[in-house]
Amino acid sequence: MDIIENAVAGKRYISTGRRVPVYNPATGEQSAELPLSTLSELNDAVASAKKAWPAWANTPPMKRARVMFKFKQLLEANADELARAISREHGKVHDDALGELARGIDCVDFACGIPQLLKGEFSRNVGPSIDTYSDRQPLGVVAGITPFNFPAMVPMWMYPAAIACGNTFILKPSERDPSASMLAWNLFMDAGLPEGVLNVVHGDKEMVDGILDHPDIKAVSFVGSTPIAEYVYQRGTKAGKRVQALGGAKNHMVVMPDADLDQVADALMGAGYGSAGERCMAISVAVPVGKETADALVAKLKPRVEALKIGPATDKDAEMGPVVTKMHRDKILGYIDAGVEQGAELVVDGRGFRLQGYEGGYYVGGTLFDNVTRDMTIYKEEIFGPVLSVVRAKDYAEAVDLINTHEYGNGTAIFTRDGDAAREFADKIEVGMVGINVPIPVPVAYHSFGGWKRSLFGDHSIYGPEGVHFYTRLKTVTTRWPAGIKGGAEFSFPTHK
Ligand code: NAD
Repeated sequence: MDIIENAVAGKRYISTGRRVPVYNPATGEQSAELPLSTLSELNDAVASAKKAWPAWANTPPMKRARVMFKFKQLLEANADELARAISREHGKVHDDALGELARGIDCVDFACGIPQLLKGEFSRNVGPSIDTYSDRQPLGVVAGITPFNFPAMVPMWMYPAAIACGNTFILKPSERDPSASMLAWNLFMDAGLPEGVLNVVHGDKEMVDGILDHPDIKAVSFVGSTPIAEYVYQRGTKAGKRVQALGGAKNHMVVMPDADLDQVADALMGAGYGSAGERCMAISVAVPVGKETADALVAKLKPRVEALKIGPATDKDAEMGPVVTKMHRDKILGYIDAGVEQGAELVVDGRGFRLQGYEGGYYVGGTLFDNVTRDMTIYKEEIFGPVLSVVRAKDYAEAVDLINTHEYGNGTAIFTRDGDAAREFADKIEVGMVGINVPIPVPVAYHSFGGWKRSLFGDHSIYGPEGVHFYTRLKTVTTRWPAGIKGGAEFSFPTHK
């Protein structure tokens, strides 16, 4: 049985903390044991990050970027091994794991160019012989706490940008699939990252609280479910830290009567069932406008959902894998039961799905509900599984109202050929990331990612330019040299005269 190490002060070792099992969701068998790091190990990690910080912050940005370039090359060279580790603990199919890794590597790529964004601004002669410049300086030791569903990409939304900006970092990956972070740590060290600049500790609530309360950690990035995101934001900001906490989602896709319904059905299959629906940008609600659109859409979706190919990551034909844990599978099945009890029409039922040879795996078949209404639990709550709900809207205004009154505001999409409707939608919808005929509008690495409403707590979105702002603070310096200084004290407020 593999025992997963942590990485503190440039060394990997087996923690003495309590141990939790890590499972392979495809088979239901335990694949590894994870010792959870102790709070004393967290203190060691923070002490080593604090010690490494002055030299790393003083390293010329181009030199830091060079380590990042090497890291990117090593990630690309080892993509297959990383993807296998992702699939083994998360369950997503191999191509999907490679896709997540590619989007993570994009963030490393962006971090290679961060010197350009640290440049600052300069104004000559803001007053007699007075110049002003401003630049962005790193914060110090910062931390990241990440969810299970993107074990490589979401950590890479955080630590490459933070480290390229001159911070040192403590990463606490999800305890359900921690191996990808350890592999990436090895590669970063091979790329020449100095000891202590990136530390990986493992844990659950106890470790999260330890991070939030630690006086030497200046900022925390969090991605996970909304209740925990809100808790992390409140506890972290109360402890005086800068916090960005990204939460859950319920992403709607509006289908206008003029949309190409074959395109829409294909888009919904990928966005609703890809990665078994365990994506914060998954579409979990389809909102066809008008009865005709709804009837035609459900007729197109039904056979596609029934034909979904479900299997382990080792099956090259599988379109979707299992969900992450037995507990999560049971929760999803409970949601499907609740949908039926509350009167939704179950068009395709994934509850009975079994895969021969993988009876112990955590599979849920693709599930489709029609006639879901806004008072139902399956509409209000995030299911995070392969369950798509169709909510019929009588007109465009009702579709928009559904989205704007929902507690979440992460992503949304509209499918239409009507430019006016699309423009109006993009303008008025109260959601952070919007797709026009694009089902999963995850911004590229040089834009930034973030939802609205209860999908994000804090003032900064994550990665891209917003990431650079989050991991740095602005300093503005006003200079005058003795030749420009007039004699005598001045008591009035300085002006530019
Ligand atoms: P989660 O909230 O259970 O866990 C996230 C992190 O919080 C993990 O590192 C976990 O160890 C820690 N944690 C769990 N319980 C805690 C507690 N009681 N106190 C303190 N820390 C705790 O989320 P998950 O199940 O790993 O991931 C799925 C969720 O993440 C979904 O809600 C999904 O929408 C969300 N997510 C959001 C985004 C986004 O960008 N908005 C991206 C990916 C995932």
